[in-house]
Amino acid sequence: MGAVLLDGKAVAAKVRAEVAQRAAQFAARHGRRPGLAVVQVGADPASSVYVRNKRRSSLEAGIESIAHDLPPSTSEAEILALVSALNHDERVDGILVQLPLPKGVNADRVMDAVDPLKDVDGFHPVNTGLLAQKRPRLRPCTPYGVIRLAQEYGIALTGLRATVVGASNIVGRPMALELLLARATVTVCHTGTRDLRGEVERAELVVAAVGKPGFVPGEWIRPGAAVFDVGINRTDAGNLVGDVEFESAAARAGWITPVPGGLGPMTIAMLLSNAVDAAFYRAGRAPGAG
Ligand code: NAD
Repeated sequence: MGAVLLDGKAVAAKVRAEVAQRAAQFAARHGRRPGLAVVQVGADPASSVYVRNKRRSSLEAGIESIAHDLPPSTSEAEILALVSALNHDERVDGILVQLPLPKGVNADRVMDAVDPLKDVDGFHPVNTGLLAQKRPRLRPCTPYGVIRLAQEYGIALTGLRATVVGASNIVGRPMALELLLARATVTVCHTGTRDLRGEVERAELVVAAVGKPGFVPGEWIRPGAAVFDVGINRTDAGNLVGDVEFESAAARAGWITPVPGGLGPMTIAMLLSNAVDAAFYRAGRAPGAG
């Protein structure tokens, strides 16, 4: 393998240590810990793993974790009522509603109901809009994690030719906005893209967020490119693999994230960072200013 492995676990640990320090500062000033409400509706097994991790990591970072586990039969109106109560709860600085929501519940309506100042996922249209206008506030965790990881490894993004494969509201689109903010030259690919191979081959930085195992063949990777693999796919054998063919891509890339151990831990770390940012914003102070 020629590539430098981008160690998301190690960088996430560093981010979490910073978060713990800022959470302690907040608690010392305000007499309470930052509070993060995590709402899960139903018991989707993958979601349950994520939710457990988020709650445990919150506590370890000195953030109060407020759990709301609702049965799968919960109606949209009931979820909206809970979100409204959390919006008005002074102890709650961040609200995370774990996706996917049960069938019949309109996820957009639920996400839109979250107070943008408590939107630690960064999915609210107000926060997406602020990012689009290059004045980011609460930033979507996975794309923010890509940027932080690149910074930690000294990957200079300015002027870089970047291709994002995937254009979802939660990963691909905000990823493109983050890269644009970092002054890369950005191409976004999706199911309508004509020459996907050409777009990837040209890229000095590739982000794959498709949700299909090994979707990007290693031979498409430009020698020396930085490869960020957001995909988390479970194989029939029960292993987790990314959207990029790892071995063959690693032989060509300059840098590459592993799956697992890349953007998964970074996403949780950036979520905690957002929760502390949200607490400081609500208290009327710049994050980190104490
Ligand atoms: P999604 O299904 O909402 O979006 C997938 C995108 O890929 C779409 O924009 C679609 O146009 C594009 N796509 C699909 N097939 C394509 C094709 N043949 N050619 C070109 N584009 C194609 O998925 P998502 O929510 O953005 O998630 C993507 C992956 O990232 C999933 O594996 C998910 O599990 C993972 N994910 C990981 C984290 C993390 O913490 N690391 C966070 C969120 C999502």
